[in-house]
Amino acid sequence: EARLPGADFLDIESGLAPHERRKLGQVRAFLAERVLPHAPDWWDREEFPAHLLVPFGELGVGTPTRRGYSHLFHGLVIAELARADASLATFFMIHHDLFVESLHAFGTDAQRERYLSDAAALRTTGAFALTEPDHGSDVARGLGTTARRDGDHWVINGGKRWIGNGTFCDHLLLWAADEHTRQVRGFILDMSLPGVASTRIEHKTALRIVQNADIVLEDVRVAEADRFPGIDSFADANELLRSSRIMVGWEAVGQQLAAFEIARAYALEREQFGRPIASFQLIQQQLVQMLGNATASMAMMARLAQLQERGAADMAQAALAKAYCSARMRESVALGRALLGGNGILTDRRMAKVFADAEAIYTYEGTYEINSLIVGRAVTGISAFS
Ligand code: FAD
Repeated sequence: EARLPGADFLDIESGLAPHERRKLGQVRAFLAERVLPHAPDWWDREEFPAHLLVPFGELGVGTPTRRGYSHLFHGLVIAELARADASLATFFMIHHDLFVESLHAFGTDAQRERYLSDAAALRTTGAFALTEPDHGSDVARGLGTTARRDGDHWVINGGKRWIGNGTFCDHLLLWAADEHTRQVRGFILDMSLPGVASTRIEHKTALRIVQNADIVLEDVRVAEADRFPGIDSFADANELLRSSRIMVGWEAVGQQLAAFEIARAYALEREQFGRPIASFQLIQQQLVQMLGNATASMAMMARLAQLQERGAADMAQAALAKAYCSARMRESVALGRALLGGNGILTDRRMAKVFADAEAIYTYEGTYEINSLIVGRAVTGISAFS
């Protein structure tokens, strides 16, 4: 008798309150109906499902810990999104966990009044613009994009790269260096302002539903009222990245749950040598390795959620979770890809999409190497990268 409905082998979900389990069930049903059957097609066509924005908003699961839900619930929502489609999980994290969260964390009352309710309901969308053409991993060492004060405005010049949602969003959380003091500044930048030009990044082999952009800023005038007064150093960006890195750990969990479920179903259905391939010992061992990776990742993330509940999860712990879970994810999706044989390279079979998307997750929110070095610094007291 097969035991598994899904891959939550240690029943981590039982740590949710009853109302959270009900809400997670609603999210799951929404994704099963509105996302799962269509995502491979959107992925092939590099198309973002803009028609889902308002229904997504109506689900009401953005920045859930601001509304009384637990960190475990927040993480499991991200895992569930990633299980259905990693690009949509990415969209959701950029918009809610970086843009909307920055309004909560750094905004004035007037800024929250002006932007928050539309953004929370997904009537408007936001992006997080930190990476630059010449500054990826070393972005904390110095931003090339500058802001110069001019009366009650700032004049912004520079460029940003890889900005998710950057082709269609209404606003950017833009990071720039003060031309005068070199302090880090954060702005809510309206994409319709004169001097903003956005070009879609083509030819991606991963997260093809995410619309990444190169953004050029030429003498863009932003009102002082749209500067975040709560941002004055890179430590403020790190504050956001600490929790979004944890969410990327959950995303790696979701990817592994998807890979395991697809592989398990395929192993039971596909026959070779006159029997299901699931009956071969090597195949069972591969499924168990995938399940072990997913379970270890999920248990680590659930523990991080407990620490977050106490306000005690630090950057090194977030970096370890991101690095560890994304490395396990990479192993798991490769095993799953191979288990499907030739069908493992077809995007309409889902596994190839999961396999490809994992590569971007391994790289963004700090590459595997950079997150390892953050942990390395914490355990040795020596920084290898600054
Ligand atoms: P580089 O920094 O050039 O790194 C190249 C290689 O060198 C990597 O393997 C890296 O680990 C390694 N390396 C660099 N320095 C060291 C070192 N000191 N020691 C050892 N190895 C090192 N950014 C945003 O601001 N907003 C977004 O919305 C956003 N979305 C993204 C979506 C996708 C799909 C992708 C791929 C990226 C996104 N990014 C975004 C950017 C992302 O955060 C960067 O790609 C990432 O930080 C790495 O920077 P890089 O690509 O410039 O690589």
